[in-house]
Amino acid sequence: ALVVEKLGKNYQQLNILRNLSVTVEKGEFCCITGPSGCGKSTLLRLIAGLESSDTGRIIVDGSSPSPGGREIGFVFQEDTLFPWLTIKKNITFPLELSGMKREKREELAAYFLRLTNLQQFGGHYPHQLSGGMKQRVAVARALAYKPKVVLMDEPFAALDAQTRNYMQQQLIELWEHEKLTIVFVTHNIDEALYLADRVLVLTGRPAGNRQEFLVKLPRPRQRTSLPFVKLRE
Ligand code: ATP
Ligand code: MG
Repeated sequence: ALVVEKLGKNYQQLNILRNLSVTVEKGEFCCITGPSGCGKSTLLRLIAGLESSDTGRIIVDGSSPSPGGREIGFVFQEDTLFPWLTIKKNITFPLELSGMKREKREELAAYFLRLTNLQQFGGHYPHQLSGGMKQRVAVARALAYKPKVVLMDEPFAALDAQTRNYMQQQLIELWEHEKLTIVFVTHNIDEALYLADRVLVLTGRPAGNRQEFLVKLPRPRQRTSLPFVKLRE
């Protein structure tokens, strides 16, 4: 499980998060939603260890995640592909760093390129892809790493409705198949309710100095009623 314990974060005098506790169980799909500026990305960065909190702590499967470890994968809100590497290399580079054999890397890259409908683009460079395609590469890169917890910050916000629906379906299938633990940030409440086992609502005042926390909604899943959209092929 991912345990967020009494997390607090200030930027200068501004209190962004205060005494925030939440547990995401192994295999759970948790969505975090709330208005722009309420601290969603900040929370993910703290979980990922990219920034340190002022108070509280993060525990993954009983211990603090190690920096550069494989506990946590991240799909950022902004484009973070390496511009000098091909799409395939962008996906396999972190795997290479972790010491995975070439053959296995190639296999994973092929699988995730197919999954994200980018099989023809493995040899392209990021600048040759659209914003939405690059976002799909970032999803593929994070998932290929098979982290214990996948953090996703508005990964589908830039996609058109059809592609977003396709990616949502793929993510759900993959989540079920790989038994992923996902923390998914979106400001789109419909998307949150559609994807999540539980939705965490951060209420905040972007211009104010305090942050109220939160509502949890346990939900029965009703995903099968939505149409599966298959692109191309
Ligand atoms: P959005 O939906 O627009 O992505 P968000 O919920 O992800 O918003 P954050 O990016 O977490 O919001 O920012 C929360 C607040 O913290 C904002 O008021 C922002 O200005 C402030 N903030 C974020 N990062 C920093 C920083 N490095 N230094 C100072 N203030 C920051
Ligand atoms: Mg954000």
